[in-house]
Amino acid sequence: MTTNPQTGPCRVCKNEAELIFTKQILGKHEAAYFKCAACGHVQTEEPYWLEEAYRNRDYRLDVGMADRCVWSAQTMVALARRVGIGPEEPCLDWGAGTGLFVRLCRDYGMNFFYFDPYPQNIFARGFEADTAGGPEWTCISAFEVAEHLADPLKDFGKLFRLSPRYILFSTLLYGGQSGDWWYFTDNGQHIAFYTRRSLELIGEQYGYRLASNGRDLHLFSKERVRDRILDTSRKRRQKEAGRYRRKYGSRIESDFEQAANGRPLAS
Ligand SMILES: [Zn+2]
Repeated sequence: MTTNPQTGPCRVCKNEAELIFTKQILGKHEAAYFKCAACGHVQTEEPYWLEEAYRNRDYRLDVGMADRCVWSAQTMVALARRVGIGPEEPCLDWGAGTGLFVRLCRDYGMNFFYFDPYPQNIFARGFEADTAGGPEWTCISAFEVAEHLADPLKDFGKLFRLSPRYILFSTLLYGGQSGDWWYFTDNGQHIAFYTRRSLELIGEQYGYRLASNGRDLHLFSKERVRDRILDTSRKRRQKEAGRYRRKYGSRIESDFEQAANGRPLAS
C-alpha cells in the first residue's frame, strides 16, 4: 500500500489531516504541516529532526525566559488562590527546565516540585520529583510544553495518568494563521498547534474539562472551571500572588533549613 503525502492521520483525533504548507526548518529540512479537517489541529509530519533540533539550543536568543517564568509563576499562584490550592498541597512543574518557576512558586508559599525529562535544574535542586512514585499532585503545570509534543494524546496522557485536580498549561492556539506565523518556528521545536476543540478532545479522552482564555493559557480540570478565571488570574497575578505569600508565608526559610539538614522529599 502506498501512503499519500497530501494527508495523514491527526495525532489528536485520528481523523484525516491535510497538507496546508511546507516550510524549511533547521535550514535544510522541508517539513510538511497538516491540518485536521475535524478538530482543526495542526501538526508537522512525523518530526524526524527532533534530536537535531534540541542538540544545539541557542539560549542567547531566549532573553525573555526569566520574565516568562516570573509571570507564569505569579499567574499560577494567583490561580491557586482562586481555585483554593493550599500551601501544603503538592504540585508539579512538568518540563521545569532551569527550575526557576518551581523556585518562584515556593517563594510565594506553594509546595511545588520539579520534573523534566531533560533536566537542567539550577534553581530547584533537591525538589526533583520521581513522578512514578510521587504523591498525588493537586496541580501539574506545563508551560511551553504542549507545542513540543510529538504525540499529544499519549504525551498529555502521562500527565493525566497522575490524576491531578488541575493541569495548567500554555500554548498559543491556532486560528488559521499562515505559514509565516512566528509560532511555526524554523528551529523545528514546535510540532503541535492546537485549537480549542483539539484540546477539548484530549481532555475528554481522560475525563477532564477544558477552560481556556482562547489564546494562550489553558486549564484541564475534573470539575468545570470558568474560562475567565485564567485571564483574571493573569491580570491580577502580582497582587494575588503577593496575597498568597502574605497569607501562607514564603518557603524560602524553611527550604533553606531543610536543605541544610538534608534533602527534602516530594512525598
Ligand atoms: Zn483532529
